[in-house]
Amino acid sequence: MPSHSDTPAANAPIWQQRVAKANQQRHAASQWRSRRTLSSAQAVEVRLGEGNEQQTLLNFCSNDYLGLANQAGEDLASAAREWGLGSGASHLVCGHSSVHDELERALARYTGYPKALLFSTGFMANLGCINALAQRGDLVVQDKLNHASLIDGALLSRADFQRYRHLDYPQLQRRLQKRDADMALVVSDSIFSMDGDLADVAQLANLCEQQNAMLMIDDAHGLGILGEQGRGVRNHFGLTSQQLPLYIGTLGKALGGFGAFAAADEATIDYLVQFARPYIYTTALPPAVAAAMLANLERMHDDRLRQQLQAAIGYFRQQAKALGLQLMPSDSPIQPLMVGAEDDALAISKALEQDNIWVTAIRPPTVPEGSSRLRITLTAAHTQQHLDRLLQALDRHVPEEQRA
Ligand SMILES: *Cc1c(COP(=O)(O)O)cnc(C)c1O
Repeated sequence: MPSHSDTPAANAPIWQQRVAKANQQRHAASQWRSRRTLSSAQAVEVRLGEGNEQQTLLNFCSNDYLGLANQAGEDLASAAREWGLGSGASHLVCGHSSVHDELERALARYTGYPKALLFSTGFMANLGCINALAQRGDLVVQDKLNHASLIDGALLSRADFQRYRHLDYPQLQRRLQKRDADMALVVSDSIFSMDGDLADVAQLANLCEQQNAMLMIDDAHGLGILGEQGRGVRNHFGLTSQQLPLYIGTLGKALGGFGAFAAADEATIDYLVQFARPYIYTTALPPAVAAAMLANLERMHDDRLRQQLQAAIGYFRQQAKALGLQLMPSDSPIQPLMVGAEDDALAISKALEQDNIWVTAIRPPTVPEGSSRLRITLTAAHTQQHLDRLLQALDRHVPEEQRA
């Protein structure tokens, strides 16, 4: 029996009762999350399960937008022969190597900043930067749909934390105008991870300049996708690095690897090295991973990947519209189909899986109540044939009342 259905005895310790109750509530609300186990590398077609239970699925839920996740295996292997596995310590003790340095310089050049600093994950980069820069008495203002790591960074900082309605910049402006705090930090995703739409970062930069606030943008889904050669959201909007003074990029999405970085001016990066605790107190990324990331950064310069991706997005949106499917307004690789109720989103996701198509149903609390959706993601590696298979399956399984 799965553990969630076990009801602990009335005299069980309080933590056991709490755990059991929360698990039961999650189940009852159709919000239970579970992992699926891949038995093949990340790719457009993946194998799930083991032995006789294997199934090959056409994958429409990865963030591997340029299809680079499984291309750097040889780079990783040859770097590992030189560097081994572990970095041995944090960057400030003895874990910082020349490949980390080289990757930081390459990322700074690519994104157009004086300096970059590697973090082990994007979650830690966001926690570390917000917590280091915002302090008690300051104001942190964020878009309501920002990534969980940005929200948690603000909570951790103990600054006054306010949110504005998604993309509602007049509301943001009022919050900044009314503030008592001298120091204000405005934080937004570039491309929103569950909606696929894009913040108006030029407008945010203007507002921050007018209101004397610092702007931090998490470009997890924009790096490699937006701007010339995929240089990201700063380049896309033609902003200078002074107008967007703190840039966060991750290496686990379009770059197809693992890790993250902050990019800023030299003084800010030096400050983060001193004060960003998730930078200081954690083991440095394995050097071989940094070397493989350098190889993927080279691959990411190739505009053909972005052209293939754009072609896939254009084709999918056009065909979906013809079928009356109500896609959310998005030009990005994230093309969610809004469903509403958790059960309905789960049912469509399960039906697609019977047709060997994998699209995860995203439910609260990841998204607001009543906005469960199928988060379809497209990549440069999806061919028209793959997209047609998805479209035909959606046509079979999305009920008429969900269509335009
Ligand atoms: C994935 C993601 C992160 C976290 O990055 P990791 O490197 O996976 O920890 C941060 N912000 C956004 C918007 C993301 O989508």
